[in-house]
Amino acid sequence: MVIFLNGNYVAEDTQISYNDRGIQFGDGVYEVVRVYEGKLFTAEEHFERLVRSTQEIAIESPYSLSEYIEICNTLIERNDIHNGTIYVQVTRGDAIRNHAYPKDVKPNVLLYTNSVERPVNEIQSGIPVITAEDFRWLRCDIKSLNLLGNIMNKQKAVEQGAKECIQIRNGIVTEGASSNVYIVKDGKIMTHPANNFILNGITRRVIQQIAAHENIPFEEVTFDASTLKAADEVFISSTTQEVMPVVSIDGTLINQGNVGPVVKQLQSQFEATIHQLHG
Ligand code: PMP
Repeated sequence: MVIFLNGNYVAEDTQISYNDRGIQFGDGVYEVVRVYEGKLFTAEEHFERLVRSTQEIAIESPYSLSEYIEICNTLIERNDIHNGTIYVQVTRGDAIRNHAYPKDVKPNVLLYTNSVERPVNEIQSGIPVITAEDFRWLRCDIKSLNLLGNIMNKQKAVEQGAKECIQIRNGIVTEGASSNVYIVKDGKIMTHPANNFILNGITRRVIQQIAAHENIPFEEVTFDASTLKAADEVFISSTTQEVMPVVSIDGTLINQGNVGPVVKQLQSQFEATIHQLHG
């Protein structure tokens, strides 16, 4: 397997400096792009978000959208990726440890691929989740490399035999440790507004478009944990999890543990969107 590092396609065990600001401070941002049957899915949206994340922390992205896409396509070809993901990390660069942004530093840019199949079984059966306090920082709209809050909450879920942790800040449901969260109530989809408390998911935007196309009301509103557990249907979304049904929350069954009709409708339209790539 080859990885891309700072302009070169190199072996995957290529080393980076201990002075990298990503290592020293988590000072960087990242993206995950899905590959279906050798083709990139919603890549422009991901790289637009990457550029936004870099701008928010005053890193100048060294590559344009089309250059990132070209690098991805080269990696897909060279690593023979059919179904998989591409991780992109941009750190501020190498500098002697000092909190403030260093001057004249060159960002480190890393892209690497993984081969992974779609989570088809879970998409069909749904997953159990837990809830926990959202104790992350207040700029969750930036796709920061520093994911301590997210990984601590994901670990809680795993320790309780669940697959995701739905996070709750001041009584309000925000998002999963690595996903956006939605409820369906009386035929309406509701999800937290895309502000600083959540990451504006690319899959969330695809779902929003599908809902508009299917005439399903899509409301960006806040709701609390009891509304979550009393919902008709609950689901999460992400680049790797797609439209993933939630069938229990902290042991409480949702829709009697079954995948509901609105989620199934979204899933079948999502499937169609993926297949359009090959049409
Ligand atoms: N929120 C968080 C915290 C995430 O880590 C992710 C996954 N990257 C998402 C939401 C979903 O975003 P996307 O649909 O762009 O993968």
